[in-house]
Amino acid sequence: MLLIDCPHCGPRNEVEFRYGGEAHVPYPEDPSALDDREWSRYLFYRANTKGVLAERWQHSAGCRKWFNALRDTRTYRFERIYPMGSPRPDLPTPPDIPADAAEPDRFAAAATTEGRTDGRADGDAALTATDSSAAVGTDADARTGNEDDHA
Ligand SMILES: [Zn+2]
Repeated sequence: MLLIDCPHCGPRNEVEFRYGGEAHVPYPEDPSALDDREWSRYLFYRANTKGVLAERWQHSAGCRKWFNALRDTRTYRFERIYPMGSPRPDLPTPPDIPADAAEPDRFAAAATTEGRTDGRADGDAALTATDSSAAVGTDADARTGNEDDHA
């Protein structure tokens, strides 16, 4: 379980919140002056940051108010929560994250199953699906462990 600190209600379970996309994406001053390419850039192109990203969140099952947050996309950790309309706060120093902690374990697991040399036929789809679901369960367990560190 991930706790998100609503600025109005305090820490609450993540299921009470709705993600609102990247923050600080300015609405075009004159939308009718944009061509299709510029309009699509405004609508669909986002930073997709690996690291600290400014995001909009709504406490949809609580006070229903919106707020901004700086969240590290590598660790899910919320670094800062601040009101809508405020400028993005500067973080004093970037959080120090070990290189191996930044990569989810499931990618390592996928890399090892690709080069299988156990002689099984390629038509082993059912076994592959079972392997994938087992990897997802392991990843979820690992995530729960990480969140305990942040509590
Ligand atoms: Zn709230």
